[in-house]
Amino acid sequence: MPRKPITVTQPSLPPLEEFIPYLEEIWESKWLTNNGPFHGQLEKALCDYFGVEHLALFANGTVALITALQTLRISGEVITTPYSFVATSHSLLWNNIQPVFVDIDPQRMTLDPARIEAAITPRTMAIMPVHCYGYPCDVERIQQIADTYGLKVIYDAAHAFGVRYKGESLVRHGDLSVLSFHATKVFNTFEGGAIVCPDAKTKQRIDFLKNFGFADEVTVMAPGINGKMNEFQAALGMLQLSKIGQALEKRAVLDRRYREGLAQVRGITLPQAPAGTTHNHAYFPVLVEPDYPMRRDELYARLRKEDIFARRYFYPLISDLPMYRGLPSANPAHLPVAKSVSERILCLPIYPDLPPDEVDRVIGIVASATA
Ligand SMILES: *Cc1c(COP(=O)(O)O)cnc(C)c1O
Repeated sequence: MPRKPITVTQPSLPPLEEFIPYLEEIWESKWLTNNGPFHGQLEKALCDYFGVEHLALFANGTVALITALQTLRISGEVITTPYSFVATSHSLLWNNIQPVFVDIDPQRMTLDPARIEAAITPRTMAIMPVHCYGYPCDVERIQQIADTYGLKVIYDAAHAFGVRYKGESLVRHGDLSVLSFHATKVFNTFEGGAIVCPDAKTKQRIDFLKNFGFADEVTVMAPGINGKMNEFQAALGMLQLSKIGQALEKRAVLDRRYREGLAQVRGITLPQAPAGTTHNHAYFPVLVEPDYPMRRDELYARLRKEDIFARRYFYPLISDLPMYRGLPSANPAHLPVAKSVSERILCLPIYPDLPPDEVDRVIGIVASATA
């Protein structure tokens, strides 16, 4: 039998028969969307899981990011990282906000706090860092800077589901934290997302904004959007959440297997989450260094030939894309770390159902180039 191709990530799905009763309930009630019963259950269950008081579900992470900026009425300039998925910066452009790119820390691969202050101008209103690969940003120093300059902090926590940092859930940090439940993420509802927020008043504003701005039947308080999560997504979320512990454990086992197998390979560096992190192993990034016998793109192509689809997350940098590269802060000379990491990075396949012997095969191919 021909081997199935291995992609960088594959969605976790529960056994179909376990989802049927949920579907029957939706069909029975005919409550398909707009704050239905599963929507309420999932908001509550996720609050408990994260240890937070307030959370608003969304149709996807990108609309959640766009709405998060509107919730806090951010305009002008926002400091962000060029080393992320495009949706981070796109959410700024959708709000007519100018992204200001700041370089990343070479260890954490997240926004470098030491470089933030130099990028602050009178127009700066917020910082939008990304917990890239689920590696926590330097949340303490970022909060310090935000407090000093009166800035808001909105975390793009799309990679951070289940990550704990210094004993608490990472999504507790910042004024708002935005999650994605896209099919490729650690926890998925096919498409989906959420904003974690600090108080009931903010939660209410978010709930209005995600429902066209309706405050009641006749009052529209703002030009809101349709960002609502539907009952199908929320029901699936409930079932997925009951399996998340197992899924994270399986990821941890595969992560260890990769680390052991690749530790001795010359020219391959294995980044790691900072101390104090309980990681989710959402990705398995490696850096292909100059003393590795092939360039990163050659290794990428070699794996492809074996039907192993690694991904260059994140290459190209957001700041190198046509709609961003004209910005003064997009000058690659100001972003040397992000530039260098994006040229060396390769994310190897990792997902709960990836068979261990396939991990060994990937390790074998990566290691064989140096043999
Ligand atoms: C996936 C992702 C998003 C977008 O989330 P969607 O749910 O796909 O809209 C935003 N930021 C980052 C860093 C992501 O990885």
